[in-house]
Amino acid sequence: MPKLFIEDLPIRGKKVLVRVDFNVPLDSDLNVVDTTRIEAALPSIRYILNQGGILILMSHLGRPRNEPNPELSLAPVAKMLSVLLEKPVQIASDCVGNSVKEKIDSLLQGEILLLENLRFHRAEMHPDEDPEFAKELASFADLYVNDAFGSAHRKHSSTYTIARYFPNGAAAGYLLEKEIHFLGEILSNPKRPFYALIGGAKISTKIGVMKSLLKIVDRLLIGGGMSYTFLKAKGLKIGDSIYEEELLPLAKEMMEAYREKLMFPVDILAAKECSDDALTRVVSVEEGIPDGYQGLDIGPKTIELFSKTLQNGGTVLWNGPLGVYEFESFAKGTYALAQTVAAIPAATIVGGGDLIAALKDTGMIEKITHVSTGGGATLEYLEFGTLPAIEALSEKGLPIL
Ligand code: AMP
Repeated sequence: MPKLFIEDLPIRGKKVLVRVDFNVPLDSDLNVVDTTRIEAALPSIRYILNQGGILILMSHLGRPRNEPNPELSLAPVAKMLSVLLEKPVQIASDCVGNSVKEKIDSLLQGEILLLENLRFHRAEMHPDEDPEFAKELASFADLYVNDAFGSAHRKHSSTYTIARYFPNGAAAGYLLEKEIHFLGEILSNPKRPFYALIGGAKISTKIGVMKSLLKIVDRLLIGGGMSYTFLKAKGLKIGDSIYEEELLPLAKEMMEAYREKLMFPVDILAAKECSDDALTRVVSVEEGIPDGYQGLDIGPKTIELFSKTLQNGGTVLWNGPLGVYEFESFAKGTYALAQTVAAIPAATIVGGGDLIAALKDTGMIEKITHVSTGGGATLEYLEFGTLPAIEALSEKGLPIL
């Protein structure tokens, strides 16, 4: 069933509670250093204001250990949002309680209030322990919008439990809708050939999505730290590279079941230590990585092989860096493939926090068809085809109570 969309809501004069993802990085002076996530929420925010709604925003920020922590206050975010909107944005002293309720009751049409960090309360992440928390948040508004895709895989009070208190009035915002559109499209109707490129440290965090993808992709290319478990399972020498012993049998099974689809590095950039002044050497996977060396990036032949393979893709999905990109010496593979992916005419989808951070300053992000804002949420959506917070939203076409 299609889910209710923000444009289906009767917003004029109504209080609209919007779950956004304002989990932004702050510097030591508590200034917002990256506004990407705030900007991503602007279309929904502007729409509600233009429609004459009263806007109440809520988000988490960091991991405040279930109690107030001034260093994780959303006040700097309210300030930044106010700059971006060129409008005042008020910050509440908490996210629940009488004084917050009074403040909300005094809001006028077109005004904006940002509630304080939801995770100052344990009940945000543990709705079962205190269902009253979600109920109280819900009591502040007439309508609910979820625009926090990055948290949509969590069954938290503000992302999941709360929706039940808005019968037929819980809708997806623009950001959530955009993610559902692009990720949904590649799952149900990808332009072929469909290639997925998966990197990152461990198989264990991505095993579910890899299994789901293997059923629908034409090829799955594997790089990064996770490739060494597969190479070891093939009987190749991986030196001191990271790998997951307990996943060797599974890696073997996957390689047997999907021999035709899986593609691995053919050479590796190895070093004695993970630092920019470490001595590096390129080894072929047949030759193997000598003891005392770790594989830290894909090698030049692999860059060529992967780039050539992706060239004719109809859809290319990429998650996870192909090396320890945090060090310049081991970022070459990730940057080279970013250049390839940015230049090909395919529908390109890039996801995962780490990879976006790696590509941020390369200017390539703008050339990608869709940059998914979720980390775990993107992976889970690709694995299951939906997420708990999406399921919790109202269905389209019913009378809004
Ligand atoms: P993930 O969050 O699973 O996407 O993993 C991202 C992390 O994987 C980054 O911090 C990379 O430094 C790390 N990584 C990528 N390749 C390797 C490798 N060959 N050895 C160790 N860590 C790696």
